[in-house]
Amino acid sequence: MTSANLLVLLVLVMGPVLASFFATVAERLPAGRPLSGRSRCDSCARPLGALSLVPILSYFLLRGRCRRCGAPIPRRLLFFELAGLGLAVHVLLIMGPSPLALVSLVFALTLLAVAVIDVRHLYIPDVLSLPLIPAGLAVALFEPRLDVTAHFIGAVAGFALMWFVAWSYRRLRGREGLGGGDAKLMAAGGAWVAWEGLPLVLLIASASGLLFVAILRLAGRRLALQDAIPFAPFLAFAIWMVWLHAPPLAGG
Ligand SMILES: [Zn+2]
Repeated sequence: MTSANLLVLLVLVMGPVLASFFATVAERLPAGRPLSGRSRCDSCARPLGALSLVPILSYFLLRGRCRRCGAPIPRRLLFFELAGLGLAVHVLLIMGPSPLALVSLVFALTLLAVAVIDVRHLYIPDVLSLPLIPAGLAVALFEPRLDVTAHFIGAVAGFALMWFVAWSYRRLRGREGLGGGDAKLMAAGGAWVAWEGLPLVLLIASASGLLFVAILRLAGRRLALQDAIPFAPFLAFAIWMVWLHAPPLAGG
């Protein structure tokens, strides 16, 4: 087996495996529970050991139920693991097998955890968004195709841009529309996509956000102006798309 094939296999396996870790993070972080320790059944506390070892398949083998007490295992775990596999395929198709692909996979899953937490709890944990800033700068420093200065400017400009959008919104509407968490996430985005990528991130995030609201309307959901719509999922999606498809890296 060539080393390229080995890397393909590694990324494909790590997708669901890392995803089940990030599913745990998304579950425990907002609840203030420690991240270490094995996943347990919510009903009988039996450790879900086999589940985390063989993601996806084990869910179907157990028919989504705890083997001891039969309580349903949260769908979210399966959602994360399938998403992990999908992201692994996505990153391999665009970047090809490389150590950077593996790093990008971890980046993607962190963004996914951020998005899920914002949807369920309407906040973005600093402990997930802030480390992405030095991580993005480190990747830019070690990746010869990237210019670390542009990425540093991106982090600063991303924070300033989002802070300005939030400030304008507050001035216009007289209430909070975007949180400081969005500004920190945009700083992380800037560290990864550099300042040149920021306008596209903002465009994709706003367009996908508006599309989502339009779909909700078509589906008959009335949205009041004061309804809180988490912005992190759209921001995370936009950052991921620009990171993966931006000219310096796309095509291997
Ligand atoms: Zn159980």
